[in-house]
Amino acid sequence: MFKIGCHLSASKGFMHMGEEILSLGGNTFQYFSRNPRGGAVKSLDMEDVEAFNSFAKEKEIPCILCHAPYTLNPCSKDEKTRDFAYRAMTEDLERMDLTPGNMYNFHPGSHVGQGVEAGIELIVAHLDKVMRDDMKTTVLLETMAGKGSEVGSRFEEIAEIIEKTALGEKLGVCLDTCHVYDAGYDIVNDLDGVLGEFDKVIGLNRLKAIHLNDSKNPFESHKDRHEKIGEGSIGLEAIERIINHHALRDIPFYLETPNELPGYKKEIEMLKSMSGSSK
Ligand code: FE
Ligand code: FE
Ligand code: ZN
Repeated sequence: MFKIGCHLSASKGFMHMGEEILSLGGNTFQYFSRNPRGGAVKSLDMEDVEAFNSFAKEKEIPCILCHAPYTLNPCSKDEKTRDFAYRAMTEDLERMDLTPGNMYNFHPGSHVGQGVEAGIELIVAHLDKVMRDDMKTTVLLETMAGKGSEVGSRFEEIAEIIEKTALGEKLGVCLDTCHVYDAGYDIVNDLDGVLGEFDKVIGLNRLKAIHLNDSKNPFESHKDRHEKIGEGSIGLEAIERIINHHALRDIPFYLETPNELPGYKKEIEMLKSMSGSSK
């Protein structure tokens, strides 16, 4: 089954997102765990959560993806910011135990002048505090564009974090097509080469989700500006090769393109027809 969905607003709860993604023609979705700019969370509506858990089973929604807030920076040099990252992610992972078997994606963070190695040490220390042996969620590190002092724009950095984390065996990776292209991995002209490199450095068995975005900027620009599918520097042909690549067949794809719901619906329809599984 071709697993495709988009980013949805969580403000009306899980059931609303579940119905919404089906109405858009998708079968999975991403949502923010809380306001993406940070802050406190609303208490969960357990009726909604339980209704969604059975709805997801019944409608064969395979696995959903929760995205941490952008303000979460586990490798900030500011202790208060690191402490927010610790508290927010701990709380998010506790809440996610109520919708077991799903995925939680976060940006490794920005080292803000401390250097990549110091950044990696802080991220590992963070993961060692927030990950639990009995967690029911797979935590994913997102591949980054390398804007500013972002950690995680090289596969080696992601691999090092996984290796050094005590419960690293439980970690996965979310590959963002806009980010990796911006970071200098040429998925347009050498998709096999990039996936081969990913496999060699991290291991394709770690790849659990794909953020499917075109890019507003040229190759290796380190900018991180998403574009609509087919309208950016990655282009439709490369996207078609990505969604149909044999190594990526079972991985869910999430659109984070600059769209409102009708735009997402169009992109989902187009991608489904390109994937040859429109039925
Ligand atoms: Fe992200
Ligand atoms: Fe992304
Ligand atoms: Zn991005």
